[in-house]
Amino acid sequence: MSTKKKPKRNRARPETRISDSTFDVSDSTNTAMIFGDRNVVTQKAISQRIEMEADDDDDLTIRIGRWIMLKLFGTLKHGMKWYGLVSVSLGIAVGVPTVYSPLLIQTFGETNFIWVWGGFALLLAAILYFGWLIFVDSSSTTCPRCGWKFSWLRTKRVLTKHAELSDREVRNYESTYSCTNPSCGYKRENVREIIEITAP
Ligand SMILES: [Zn+2]
Repeated sequence: MSTKKKPKRNRARPETRISDSTFDVSDSTNTAMIFGDRNVVTQKAISQRIEMEADDDDDLTIRIGRWIMLKLFGTLKHGMKWYGLVSVSLGIAVGVPTVYSPLLIQTFGETNFIWVWGGFALLLAAILYFGWLIFVDSSSTTCPRCGWKFSWLRTKRVLTKHAELSDREVRNYESTYSCTNPSCGYKRENVREIIEITAP
């Protein structure tokens, strides 16, 4: 019969053992430890419900998008495929000479090159913003029920969990999306969203 006593496991006092060192973190509420090369030890995730600003992006693209759609189609329920295609074609037509300047020098001469190039670069920025960005936004803001574009918006956002890992920050949200079409009013609550921010 063995006389050796089995070491008792003390569950109430969790310990982290790394090589010869012992760290007692049982009394800590918020501990961050990083050891050696495997920097996976993390800070305890903080669970709390904090209501946040519903939308962090500028709603300018929403307003411009609505304006463009109403001008072009007279309704917010319309396909934007052609709009996207035209934007891409224009972007290529303006983008290629902007990036490949010998084309511009050949056509407009060398003396005014910097002004011509500036004009092309501005035009390209405008096409990317009013064309591509508006197109991408039009699909992400389409109401799943009535199909109106620039209408499906996040109206509430609650931060439920937040953790700082050694290489990134993770935030868990519960959001509410609602349709701004008054005759629709569709709403989705508790949409779970995870945002990871890589540490600089
Ligand atoms: Zn709707």
